[in-house]
Amino acid sequence: MQEKKHVPKATLERLSLYYKTLQNLDNEEVVTTSAIELAEILDIKPEKIRKDLSMVGKFGMKGLGYDVIHLKTNIANILGLQNYWRLAIIGVGNLGAALANYEKISDWGFVIAALFDIDENKIGEEINGVRVYDFKKFASISRRKLIDIGVIAVPDDAAQKVADTLIAAGVKGIWNFTAVQIDAPKNIKVVDENLMTGLSALSFYLNQNSN
Ligand code: NAD
Repeated sequence: MQEKKHVPKATLERLSLYYKTLQNLDNEEVVTTSAIELAEILDIKPEKIRKDLSMVGKFGMKGLGYDVIHLKTNIANILGLQNYWRLAIIGVGNLGAALANYEKISDWGFVIAALFDIDENKIGEEINGVRVYDFKKFASISRRKLIDIGVIAVPDDAAQKVADTLIAAGVKGIWNFTAVQIDAPKNIKVVDENLMTGLSALSFYLNQNSN
């Protein structure tokens, strides 16, 4: 069995930046690139890019750089972007509806397969061609729609109960947008997303520059 390597979240985030950049280069019909070119585009040190890539495989040849399609395909494989993971969004309010309308998600190998809410005014509606179902029916619908990942976009006080339902229904991963620390068994991967973390980092940099 292949050994599972721990790759830090920051590296995974940079790998998705490399993937996006390689996708753009490929669209522009660029055939080869280098750590230096990627570094210039992304404003990340070339040494860091080489180190990130060496953590996940052997790419490129000295002096020849990287083959754009080869590297892009390999990063997509590493990130599991070619598996077409199937997502369900729970909570179709401001945030959930915005995510449901984000069409580029399919470029990254994700499919939004179903939406769920408890609000009767929303159940039965469609957003971007995807139907909103009653969350009470999550277990049966997620089985039918082969849901892999549950996206939690409900108010904080409902988050853990929603997570428990997702876990009981067999989702493999949770993308949590609430401020709640989700309690989940070890085999369920929970990734927290928080816009405020990014904004706090910006505040930190602005403070540093003003001192
Ligand atoms: P909202 O009130 O607009 O929408 C919440 C939706 O969840 C509503 O449609 C509601 O009917 C539904 N809901 C409530 N309880 C539910 C349950 N038990 N099961 C299924 N659906 C349920 O809220 P919003 O502004 O979209 O925010 C949603 C969550 O996302 C909040 O926790 C908020 O703090 C968080 N948020 C996070 C970020 C971020 O950066 N992570 C940014 C904005 C909002």
